[in-house]
Amino acid sequence: MESCLFCGMVAGDIPCDKVYEDDSYLAFRDINPQAPVHLLIIPKRHLASVADLDPADAGVIGDLAVIGSRLAAEAGLNPGGFRWVFNCGDDGGQTVPHIHLHLLGGRRLGWPPG
Ligand code: 5GP
Ligand code: ZN
Repeated sequence: MESCLFCGMVAGDIPCDKVYEDDSYLAFRDINPQAPVHLLIIPKRHLASVADLDPADAGVIGDLAVIGSRLAAEAGLNPGGFRWVFNCGDDGGQTVPHIHLHLLGGRRLGWPPG
């Protein structure tokens, strides 16, 4: 998708601080971290939000979770704990319309979220 920020990163047109990449997924540091560890994990294929998932996309969410789990361990967040977040739509606080899993950790996180 031409105007999408995260597709621009996938294409290499927009720089990002990459922490993981394979043929189908990319993970990078959030530019405005909300915790000592704040990574974004995305599918390279453009999907706007978790509101748009088809049954055929179930594997994408599973893959994001597996990568998120591995990156959490690599970042030293086990067994201390961490949080995954998918923001969706305006009320959910989504600002970039390309599915991304937030991985947050490295401090005690509050609940409920604001
Ligand atoms: P959302 O609010 O859509 O759930 O999350 C989008 C995230 O992307 C935000 O946490 C924001 O800080 C991050 N972000 C926005 N622009 C950029 C950018 O240019 N580079 C990086 N690395 N992260 C960005
Ligand atoms: Zn995109």
